[in-house]
Amino acid sequence: MSEDKVIVANKGLVRADFAFWVGQYLDKFYDGLENKKIVGNKCPKCGDVFVPPRKICGKCNVVIPLDENWIDLPETGTLMNFTITPYRVNDRSSRKAKNWIIGMIQIDGSNTSIVYRLLNMEVEDVKNGMKVKIIWNEKTKGDPSDIKGFVKA
Ligand SMILES: [Zn+2]
Repeated sequence: MSEDKVIVANKGLVRADFAFWVGQYLDKFYDGLENKKIVGNKCPKCGDVFVPPRKICGKCNVVIPLDENWIDLPETGTLMNFTITPYRVNDRSSRKAKNWIIGMIQIDGSNTSIVYRLLNMEVEDVKNGMKVKIIWNEKTKGDPSDIKGFVKA
């Protein structure tokens, strides 16, 4: 005699909070964010400065030592590029946003860009090459959300 099998299907979102280690280099970067500071590291060969910091310079294929070449950087930068999106990029549970402006920002003194929201700006005012500065979240947690976004400098 065969057993009947009952298959139940549930549709919906499953929330899964998890923790993972980001590595020694990014760990240092997040510690900086928690203290409202931007920390980058510098390739000892070509001098390029990375934000967020990297273990290996892709250009020179050189390992940047963990215990040196750290640089404190300002909270100002240049807008390299931007886009407008009707979707939140960091929240899958409520995707709809109202035309967020997302920018690629090169922190002054660095050679790489980070991606954050541009705040308190109208699309017409946004220009590549404009100077911007960080708006920190009041309470920091040591993760990328410590930076709320960037405003016109
Ligand atoms: Zn290099």
